[in-house]
Amino acid sequence: MSQTPDVDRLARSMLLLHGHDDEEHEHGHHPVPDGGAPGSWRKAPDFAADPDRAAAVRESTQRDRERYLTSGLASVDCRFCHVAVRVKKLGPTHTSVQWTAEATTRCAHFAEIRAAGGDPARERSCPRLADSIRHAVAEGCLEEYSSAPSPGDG
Ligand SMILES: [Zn+2]
Repeated sequence: MSQTPDVDRLARSMLLLHGHDDEEHEHGHHPVPDGGAPGSWRKAPDFAADPDRAAAVRESTQRDRERYLTSGLASVDCRFCHVAVRVKKLGPTHTSVQWTAEATTRCAHFAEIRAAGGDPARERSCPRLADSIRHAVAEGCLEEYSSAPSPGDG
């Protein structure tokens, strides 16, 4: 019914394709018009010639930053040890949790680790709290803040 691909033929055609591609290279060379392309999305906007615009952008960036820092931040209580942490939902699977010194001190989970001679700093989070956060997300207590997160995080 189904034909099994001939490996040898496949390899040959790949070689041919490679050679063909090499040959096509000269023909396939499309000179890209340099400059004179208004509204080009490739180039980052340059506001150097427009100080007003630059200032506006800076201001909105500042506002954005403040918004980013406070928006979507919700206080979530650990249902187990009742410490409160600030949680920001950045995406369906990305939540940022801000532990305060008080929270890390009071969290029963961390206290247990300390009592066992461990290092709570190595723990990412209290599993009970993670549960509480999931609940908060499910209940819609956390507003998803969708912003392009910077790749260099941390
Ligand atoms: Zn906890």
